Amino acid sequence: MFFVDLDNFKTVNDTYGHASGDILIQQVADRLLETVRSQDTVARVGGDEFAILLPGLVDQASINQLAERTLDAVHTPFDIFGEEVVTSASVGIAIAPEHGDTYDDLLNRADEAMYRAKDHGRDAFEMFRHTPDPANPGRRAIDDRKLHADLISALDGNQFFLLYQPYIDLRTAQVVGVEALIRWRHPTLGILEPPQFIPMAERSDLIVALDNWVLWQACRQLRAWQDHRVGPLRLSVNLASRDLSSPEFFNSVERTLNDTGIDPSLLELEITERVVIDKTGPAVENIDRLRRLGVRFTIDNFGSGNSSLDRIGTFPVTTLKIDQSFVQVLGPKDEENNLVTAIIAMAGKLGLSCVAEGVETLLQSRVLLERGCTTAQGRYFSPPLPAEGIEAMLRTPAPAEVPDSFGEPPKGTLPPPAPPG
Ligand code: C2E
Ligand code: MG
Repeated sequence: MFFVDLDNFKTVNDTYGHASGDILIQQVADRLLETVRSQDTVARVGGDEFAILLPGLVDQASINQLAERTLDAVHTPFDIFGEEVVTSASVGIAIAPEHGDTYDDLLNRADEAMYRAKDHGRDAFEMFRHTPDPANPGRRAIDDRKLHADLISALDGNQFFLLYQPYIDLRTAQVVGVEALIRWRHPTLGILEPPQFIPMAERSDLIVALDNWVLWQACRQLRAWQDHRVGPLRLSVNLASRDLSSPEFFNSVERTLNDTGIDPSLLELEITERVVIDKTGPAVENIDRLRRLGVRFTIDNFGSGNSSLDRIGTFPVTTLKIDQSFVQVLGPKDEENNLVTAIIAMAGKLGLSCVAEGVETLLQSRVLLERGCTTAQGRYFSPPLPAEGIEAMLRTPAPAEVPDSFGEPPKGTLPPPAPPG
């Protein structure tokens, strides 16, 4: 099964009008029908989404060839009311029976793969891949349907808990904030990490209930820290795009802040680039209203998706969080650091703050500070920890200054990672 999603349909609608958008959908449908074989089925499954069922297509070379042909078919310019309209598609592919043997499973998995194609730059195809289980890399990923059912009962059954990963001010090596990261203590599978269940929760409304719980729990923890004079700390919470497109989102955040007595300006909500590109309406309205309340917004994993720069300039976010893939290549040579330098400069020009994630070495933290990024997070400073671990870190006096030479950290310069638990 191919899941085909147009990359810029909203822009086409906005630029040429909805009548042109309608014609484009019809013409894409015609092109897809011309591309496939007579035994295949093309169906429109949503606004700008098509599913193509291709029975008997088994060898990888033929699959790739047909996927390329599908991309080409959409990529070739369209003539719409005399205008040349250029678009492209992202295609996700799932194969029966390896990836599922029901319509729903195949469609979900092809859809998931399609998002990876979008994340990898659009106008591309991706095959579904099971998320490897870190504890058992060779094992088949956990059955989604069972996990979905388990997730519903887990929400009532107290099976989730939060870890907190500190944000460090690189100038002082002080902990200035924490990011809440969810974990699931599954009754039979053990501790599950977010990549093992968040994508599945994101495909249904379960993510909204889950993230409401995370927000509530994390705000309560921040409140407890404030009451015990631990900190001062800021709090970051991750959101899925579905959270923001729910019209009730504003009210539920406002209620949580009121009930826990947290100053809204201490809360930073981390959103993905996808929210910035694709979503209008409730998402933007929710963000606007929360910004007026004082809540701050960070674009998480910045640079790994497909932000449109003009939207970033006007979108009401406050911070760019540089994706760890850019941080982990930082090194002694200028050319290794150019991208991060450019992102930091761009953030500065746009009046946004910048934080870096995934810092694993002293060298990376030094380069970041030198280039003007003063806040960072990563295993070099500390992995995600239970709340008590954060308290222990805050009790350890921070060093007077961050070492100014490259190389291994001199003894006692930065706080050693606190032991989990
Ligand atoms: P993220 O927001 O980009 O979080 C950073 C991830 O990088 C975390 O993985 C963290 O444990 C990991 N990490 C931290 N330091 C390092 C480092 O030095 N090197 C490397 N390679 N990785 C590091 P985690 O906890 O598995 O979370 C994965 C993703 O799941 C998060 O990515 C976030 O997008 C999502 N997530 C986590 N908690 C929630 C939640 O409560 N709600 C939602 N919607 N998503 C969540
Ligand atoms: Mg995050």
